[in-house]
Amino acid sequence: MTVGYLRPTRILVDQNAIYENIQNELKELEGTETVIFPVLKANAYGHGLLPVAQAAQAAGAAGFCVAILDEALALRRANFTVPILVLGITQPSEIELVIANQISVTVGSLEWLQAAYQIVQRMAYPQPIHIHLSVDSGMGRIGFRDATELLAAYTFIKTHAKYFDLEGIFTHFATADDPDDTYFQEQRARFNAMLAVLPERPRFVHVSNSATSLWHAACNGNLIRMGISMYGLNPSGNTISKLPYPLKPALSLESELVFVKKVQAGSKIGYGASYEAVTDEWIGTIPIGYADGWSRRMQGSTVLVNGQRCEIVGRICMDQLMIRLPQQYPVGTKVVLVGRSGDEEITLQEVAEYADTIHYEIICGLSDRLPRIYT
Ligand code: PLP
Repeated sequence: MTVGYLRPTRILVDQNAIYENIQNELKELEGTETVIFPVLKANAYGHGLLPVAQAAQAAGAAGFCVAILDEALALRRANFTVPILVLGITQPSEIELVIANQISVTVGSLEWLQAAYQIVQRMAYPQPIHIHLSVDSGMGRIGFRDATELLAAYTFIKTHAKYFDLEGIFTHFATADDPDDTYFQEQRARFNAMLAVLPERPRFVHVSNSATSLWHAACNGNLIRMGISMYGLNPSGNTISKLPYPLKPALSLESELVFVKKVQAGSKIGYGASYEAVTDEWIGTIPIGYADGWSRRMQGSTVLVNGQRCEIVGRICMDQLMIRLPQQYPVGTKVVLVGRSGDEEITLQEVAEYADTIHYEIICGLSDRLPRIYT
């Protein structure tokens, strides 16, 4: 993807906010042996993999989580030497890469271990594969659902200790951000029952995403997979506002007016000519569109110019959108799509609600064409 360095639209990432969010979580963990593995999948939730990894490591992260092997390898290529856990299923066929780069993998079935064994035992210089067993306690995505199979996997690992190192066991909650904790407690009980069938606890036992660490810290385990809260966003959106420490959003999105004109009442704006100026109006054009991740669903929402909310009028194009200005502003005037301008603020939660989704999807959808500037 070609990055648009030469147009005035950019994501600003406050690395200090990431640092502070992790430090605040570490303060909550004081007196325990629990460590933080920030979740850096999907280009660090759109914030940029390597700069976020740097800030997280400086703040005291003990390791990292990613979703796919390629993300783990990108971190290794950038010389990060801390443990890295791939949370998704890695293909057994990639096991040589896993071993060569000392990556920890998630395993959710005995078949996976058997397939990996076929490969690893043929290697000239095999080293143990670091395994985290995934327990599906109710998320219904990946992991062991059956205690007998879990025990069989444990036994297989121990029988082939030359090739496998049981480093962790974990589960993922589906409703940790829900004020009703009924299903959360059911999952917790199921995970504990599965854990109890193992003759020993591996080095890491982990259950906590951000929501769990914020609202159910009592069952943290000894590793936190800190995702959205590290980026300063409330995992529940607005549902639960009570937080143990303030979260500082790291990401803002800015552009500039690149074209400004006065149109006469009755003039149409954008594809489909769907907007018609009611009176004579000042219209500004901003160089950002749905190819940058600013969805067409954002038509009718507002951006900030000089501390004032200005409506996006007409359909959002692939690379540009138009806004109605309260007055004439010069080309080059700053436009804030996410963040503060004067006394006004547009939060990612506001954007997500308007687009009828969650802030996770908004930040992950910001395309690589947008340059990320680190402050
Ligand atoms: N753990 C697992 C297994 C995940 O899939 C994710 C992200 O979806 C996380 C932790 C981090 O979640 P969050 O960003 O809600 O903290």
